[in-house]
Amino acid sequence: MKTIFQKIIDREIPAQLAHEDEHCIALHDINPQAPVHVLVIPKRLIPRIAGAGADDQALLGHLLLSAAAVAKKLGLEGSGFRIVINNGRDGGETVPHLHVHVLGGRPLGWPPG
Ligand code: 5GP
Repeated sequence: MKTIFQKIIDREIPAQLAHEDEHCIALHDINPQAPVHVLVIPKRLIPRIAGAGADDQALLGHLLLSAAAVAKKLGLEGSGFRIVINNGRDGGETVPHLHVHVLGGRPLGWPPG
């Protein structure tokens, strides 16, 4: 069964996109946890980072570079931002399709909740 993100990638349900290229999309989170909260999602399904392998190395690099580029595009370069990947139950993963959170626009606490 397709994940919600696969349905967005396939244009079956709408989302507000911040970026798209051959390998990934970036969309504004439907339930933002900061003034800027974007998800960078590979078009090729990797369920979670713990399941990624050597074949995914280039794609994973592309996701991180895209996350930084989107953060800059959305004006976060000066103030700063955070990149997060949730993995598994304790990590807070709710959608089993790898995605990189980009959060910014306010000071972010540490340690995370
Ligand atoms: P996770 O908890 O798996 O790391 O992150 C999943 C994220 O996807 C959550 O922040 C959640 O708000 C977001 N999300 C879930 N469904 C949708 C949707 O249909 N559209 C968008 N734009 N974001 C979604």
